[in-house]
Amino acid sequence: MRLYDTHCHFEAADPSAIAATLDRARTAGVEKLMAVGGSAALNGSALVAAQCAAEAIVSPQVRVALGYDRDQTAAFRADPDAACRQLATLLADNPTVAAVGEIGLDYHYSPETRADQLALFGAELELARQRDLPVVIHTREADNDTLSLLREIPSRGIIHCYTGTCEFARQFLDLGFFISISGIVTFRPAENVRDVTRFIPDDRFLIETDSPFLAPVPLRGKPNEPANVALTCAFIAKLRGLDAEDFAALTFANAERVIG
Ligand SMILES: [Zn+2]
Repeated sequence: MRLYDTHCHFEAADPSAIAATLDRARTAGVEKLMAVGGSAALNGSALVAAQCAAEAIVSPQVRVALGYDRDQTAAFRADPDAACRQLATLLADNPTVAAVGEIGLDYHYSPETRADQLALFGAELELARQRDLPVVIHTREADNDTLSLLREIPSRGIIHCYTGTCEFARQFLDLGFFISISGIVTFRPAENVRDVTRFIPDDRFLIETDSPFLAPVPLRGKPNEPANVALTCAFIAKLRGLDAEDFAALTFANAERVIG
């Protein structure tokens, strides 16, 4: 089995805990993963994860995405471009960074910061465009605004932890985006996510844990980690009538295409 967890976070920058997590992922068949930032703390721990992988004798390869997510708007309200200046410095110091993320919009949890979220998201999309980097996008109850910004600022990358409709998925696919499905697909009430999981074409499909959140069934409610992408892979393969190993290989190849 060759698995690629395209989206995980390391909440604590604790090298020994991260090394143990990477070890369990490797044992489960995870050959590569993307450690995703989103705040100063998450950006820092994603870089620590990459360092741990580089120093280990055997480890999944770790790619890194750095950015400032929708919860960071307060810090950049007066000056959204400050986020880009800080991000540009981080990218200059870490030339192997593979993507900008996660970035995006969430009107479910924070509709009141909508204008600030749009300013921050737009500034970071523009930076990614200038650097020719893919973006990792979070969009929740904000798909219309996400799509209009992506039409304004030509971008490529991943719509992560997708839980939207097939109609919106069609529009993200038409813009060239890959769509990543998390362990939510295994949750009993998530029939809408299973619908869209049947809809996404093979050549745009990615899988992720979004760990430490969203542990798939039968681990729901427990802390999640990259090793558990194997459970989500097996579940989706069954849903799509594919062999789990073949589905893992197909999503692995897609991740290589988009993350590089
Ligand atoms: Zn995330």
